[in-house]
Amino acid sequence: MSKFYPYLGYEEVCQQVPIQFPPQHQPAQPGLETLMDPPPVFDDPNYIGTGKLMDKVALVTGGDSGIGRAVSIAFAKEGADVCIVYYDEHEDAQITKAYIEAQGRKCLLISGDIRDESFCRSSIEKTVSALGGLDILVNNAGVQFPQNGIENIPIEQMLFTFEVNFFGIFMMTKFAVPYLTKGSTIISTASVLAYTGNDQMIDYSSTKGAIVSFTRSMARSLVSKGIRVNAVAPGPIWTPLQPASQPADRIPTFGSNTPMRRAGQPVELAPTYVYLASNDSSYVTGQVLHVDGGASMQS
Ligand code: NAD
Ligand code: MG
Repeated sequence: MSKFYPYLGYEEVCQQVPIQFPPQHQPAQPGLETLMDPPPVFDDPNYIGTGKLMDKVALVTGGDSGIGRAVSIAFAKEGADVCIVYYDEHEDAQITKAYIEAQGRKCLLISGDIRDESFCRSSIEKTVSALGGLDILVNNAGVQFPQNGIENIPIEQMLFTFEVNFFGIFMMTKFAVPYLTKGSTIISTASVLAYTGNDQMIDYSSTKGAIVSFTRSMARSLVSKGIRVNAVAPGPIWTPLQPASQPADRIPTFGSNTPMRRAGQPVELAPTYVYLASNDSSYVTGQVLHVDGGASMQS
């Protein structure tokens, strides 16, 4: 059982169809996981690590909450120390840190803006000096600002979305690569929207398309060094991003238009990141794994 939240039950929460979330809205991004009702499911108490990432060092951007939190905890269960780079959600970050430390692993918290080149560089350097190296980079931080039509997307919004979702990934990867060695892995969070497109999130979908192309190019670039580069394309997942970016009346039916007729929970993403981070995926590079309730196969 979780020490911090009443555990809602992996089975119940993940199997309810359709889930109707209470309408809710948070006024700014990044959203806060502590304000969400119900809280996302980010840890499966039945998941017991088997040392797949023993003594590795991982850096997870956006690791304080949502998908990144579930990934960070699963990495710790598999034996990794984790640096979490996040914007300013200190309470969410402290909760994730406590879960990681409960696994007997170290957790370094670094708060700041990944749009800033010097912040990206220093985050990598602090991780290497505090945790003794870097083996796994998870590029997961992101924002989205739905708008009706390109005429309603301010240029500032388009630039901001690219700065966080793509330029941040480019810079984190650029500064991480000198420290990565044979067996290291890079995993980025794309989205099903890179494949389906979305008329409400034209700029956001485009950043996710860029991440797919970046993943393929970096995989080719680093393969001779024995470094593998992959991505995950989630479908609709119950995380702070949703109430912080959607109007309250869009929340109750969130995820119900997927073939599985429900949103996913962050915990359902974590094993895929463990797979891509570990030697289990030793013959996999340049790929995008779709964890989306079947959403990417919809026409
Ligand atoms: P989340 O809000 O929990 O995570 C996003 C994180 O990005 C935040 O925790 C925040 O700390 C970080 N962040 C935002 N701006 C930042 C900045 N300027 N500098 C540093 N960090 C910053 O939500 P999530 O849904 O878990 O998002 C994780 C990733 O998953 C994002 O890339 C998102 O686009 C992607 N994704 C989410 C969904 C979904 O339905 N939730 C679907 C597809 C893809
Ligand atoms: Mg957060």
